[in-house]
Amino acid sequence: MRLLLAEDEAALATWLVRALAQSGFRVDWVDDGRMVRRSLRATRYDALILDLGLPGLDGREVLADLREAGERLPVLVLTARDSLMERVGSLMEGADDFLAKPFELAELEARLLALLRRARGGDHPRFACGPLHYDPGSRQFTLAHEPLALTPREHAVLRVLIQHSGEPLSKLEILERVFSDEQDVQPDAVEVLVHRLRKRLQDSPVQIRTLRGLGYLLEARPATGAA
Ligand code: CA
Repeated sequence: MRLLLAEDEAALATWLVRALAQSGFRVDWVDDGRMVRRSLRATRYDALILDLGLPGLDGREVLADLREAGERLPVLVLTARDSLMERVGSLMEGADDFLAKPFELAELEARLLALLRRARGGDHPRFACGPLHYDPGSRQFTLAHEPLALTPREHAVLRVLIQHSGEPLSKLEILERVFSDEQDVQPDAVEVLVHRLRKRLQDSPVQIRTLRGLGYLLEARPATGAA
């Protein structure tokens, strides 16, 4: 689990990076709000821990900026300003959860895990690309409300793509997410699976585009108008 921590209190950040690492999280730390977008562009994180009082760009602005850009990364807001209005304000602005300082490590971890579970669809079906939907509860894909028959590997690749729809994923990134526990799988296996998925999706507006140098992108053509 890879996390980005945006926090300007060095002592707190150093402690968090170390403590969370012991719990199996890999944490990168930035101490300036302006670094957040840049880091998110460079690395794919599972969640962001965001302090509201940040130099450079205030945490609130960082959050508004991310949501405006369509970034769906789960965000846990840290705030020293423990007022109800502040909390409600943060949640309205797109934070997924908040935690008032000072906090216990155990509570931070519990909230992070809940956040990651939710992001993966523990509570609500939230993955869609045009008429293609994925319900994480039933682990079922539907295309225009009809169940889509897939092999387990096709299913795994399509799941990774729909979880990241709108952003390209390289062969290697797909490989790591689909076959993480198998050692002898070559990147070409991803190519084969994408080819098969394209056939399954060929009569629908949903397509897997190849972006040269970037990878595969799941997207839906607009319902009307030219393709
Ligand atoms: Ca701060």
